Amino acid sequence: MVYLDYAATASLLPGVRKAMHDAEEKLFANASALHTPGHLAKYEIEKTRELLASYINAEPSEIIFTSGASESNNTVIRTFEGCQIETSPLEHHSIIETAQKYMGKKLPKLYSYMLVNNETGDILDLEKNVKEAREIEAPEKSELFEAKNDWGKPLVTDKKGGYVHSDLTQALGKVPIDVKKLGLDYATFSAHKIGGPIGIGALYVRKGVPFKPLIVGGNQEDKRRGGTYNTVGIVGFGEALKEIVKENSIEMYDKKIRKLRDTLANRILKEIKGSSLNTDLRRNKSAPNILNASFQAAEGESIQLYLDAEGIVVSTGSACAAGDTKPSHVLMAKTGDAEVAHSSIRFSFGLDNSMEDVDRVMEVLPGIIDRLQKISTIKMES
Ligand code: PMP
Repeated sequence: MVYLDYAATASLLPGVRKAMHDAEEKLFANASALHTPGHLAKYEIEKTRELLASYINAEPSEIIFTSGASESNNTVIRTFEGCQIETSPLEHHSIIETAQKYMGKKLPKLYSYMLVNNETGDILDLEKNVKEAREIEAPEKSELFEAKNDWGKPLVTDKKGGYVHSDLTQALGKVPIDVKKLGLDYATFSAHKIGGPIGIGALYVRKGVPFKPLIVGGNQEDKRRGGTYNTVGIVGFGEALKEIVKENSIEMYDKKIRKLRDTLANRILKEIKGSSLNTDLRRNKSAPNILNASFQAAEGESIQLYLDAEGIVVSTGSACAAGDTKPSHVLMAKTGDAEVAHSSIRFSFGLDNSMEDVDRVMEVLPGIIDRLQKISTIKMES
């Protein structure tokens, strides 16, 4: 199998599998319990917290473990329920739909902008939004400023009119992340995009900014996220983080994977009639691991199925929207062209991929596209 769907989920790293297996045996106790097995589990959880904090230049107390990026995103948006929320049309559904449902008119205002887009790999200009947020003046009084959180502390200690969140799910391990340098108040992470397990993620919450727990009814995470600790998942997340540090993942993606991605892109353009790219390949304009391409008069889902039959795994847009017949909202926002969006394929690479995988794709893809174009009712532009 040639797996090119790492942006949907990366395969579990062998070291992660082993660490989780060991944790299942040895760290089964409830990490909130006061007995020794409980302390042992909590100790390992805190190690992951410290690791993530140091990797993104945060304090350990600014990290909250969640069930994944969707929960982290929902938590931030729900904190600003009733407030103005601004996002880009390229965000993940867990931002867009939550914001649409819960936003209102009062201040403070939340800006939520991802750094790396999951469908195209494009890097967005966060700097501009951070600057805009910093320029908003805080009102003298607003409902939110007067609110208390669940454990009685004032909801806002750092009075400002605008806050910035970034969904860094696709950025982790692919591009450098420094939450202080980026000027973020909140940031979202997920373990399964870096070779950790599905079902565990994290939220960075800068000290002193508004916060409302999404899941209440437990003292865990300083009452910021209730629920028994997912010790095994957190250990797996920690191991995946260790791996990306050890492997110098950012440099590896930049050197090795960029070459594979760009070779595939150039060969597609050269060898396949009616092809175009939806990813900006320039350095600093996209993460090195994602390529989104469109094939005129060939439907994305059909291409995906034909490739699947050849043992090549890719996706059309985001897996979360799979089964949805609507064109990708990201490609619609970027290109404004439903045909381009409907005929798109996302190839996303991991460190295990090689140039042979690119060769294998190019062995079968031109034939598949040619066949689909021949039976299509859409006329090819000459
Ligand atoms: N945000 C982005 C940018 C993503 O790519 C994804 C996964 N497709 C998510 C959020 C949701 O992540 P999770 O599966 O951890 O909830």
